[in-house]
Amino acid sequence: MVQIKSVGVIGAGQMGTGIAHVCALAGYDVLLHDVSGDKIAAGIALIEKNLTRQVSRNIIEHDAAEAAIARIKPAVELQTIATTDLAIEAATENEEVKKNIFKALAPHLGEHTLLASNTSSISITRLASVTDRPERFIGLHFMNPVPLMKLVEVIRGIATDAPTYETAVNFARSLGKTTTNAEDFPAFIVNRILVPMINEAIYTLYEGVGTVEAIDNALKLGANHPMGPLELGDFIGLDTVLSIMNVLYEGLADSKYRPCPLLVKYVEAGWLGRKAGRGFYDYRGETPVPTR
Ligand code: NAD
Repeated sequence: MVQIKSVGVIGAGQMGTGIAHVCALAGYDVLLHDVSGDKIAAGIALIEKNLTRQVSRNIIEHDAAEAAIARIKPAVELQTIATTDLAIEAATENEEVKKNIFKALAPHLGEHTLLASNTSSISITRLASVTDRPERFIGLHFMNPVPLMKLVEVIRGIATDAPTYETAVNFARSLGKTTTNAEDFPAFIVNRILVPMINEAIYTLYEGVGTVEAIDNALKLGANHPMGPLELGDFIGLDTVLSIMNVLYEGLADSKYRPCPLLVKYVEAGWLGRKAGRGFYDYRGETPVPTR
């Protein structure tokens, strides 16, 4: 089994920064890469802010936060990631983008480096097939926000070997996470169930059954969900929600997974949810205001 000491994170968005945060806090040396240099700097600044917030809430010690931030280094060139023991890809949910990252990384990889993808829905077997090491490739699906959420879904591709699976499970546990095993079918377990529910909530809005507020309140108060489904869609990112629905629709060839046209329209408008400042709610003011 590979001894993991260093972790490379590719993609410094919502998930990549969260993954870098928990890895550094657990004592791993972290390299953070993004296609945009600005995103790397903004990502490291965000991690620092989130660590400081954890200190002020007495969740972690001041020294632990300082040590964690010192362990995270920017990696402007993707190839730098190839020197790490475990490279976790957390870039945009798009199969071509992810395949191109792995293709570009593969020729530079150290012999022992394990590869993982944080994809929400895309086949681990297909992503692994573009690399030179499908047996040492695995799905490590963290939940958002990573520092708070306990679960990591672990997904084996058809070729993933037993030591890689064992190493991945132990690694997730070392971050204080609980793992669940999911087979490599579209959207695995969590998003196979969660994302069609969000899509159905968007259809409910589209068909005029309820307003944004009515739908979210109905599920919060009527089903005891901590967040309404539209609020949750905004939180995940509507581009990611649409990509997952497309993977389900194409991968399972069942019309029940067709993405709602209203979801498509929001994504086309660039109203991607919280990260864009606007989605089913407008986040640019003091309090979120429904956009419909
Ligand atoms: P995001 O939009 O916040 O971040 C994506 C990042 O990837 C951006 O910073 C972008 O610049 C970067 N990127 C794009 N192309 C790249 C490339 N070629 N090389 C390097 N970086 C590149 O998205 P996110 O929410 O962080 O999602 C990232 C991944 O995590 C996706 O696969 C998504 O499905 C998965 N995921 C998301 C959630 C969620 O709730 N948002 C939960 C679990 C898993």
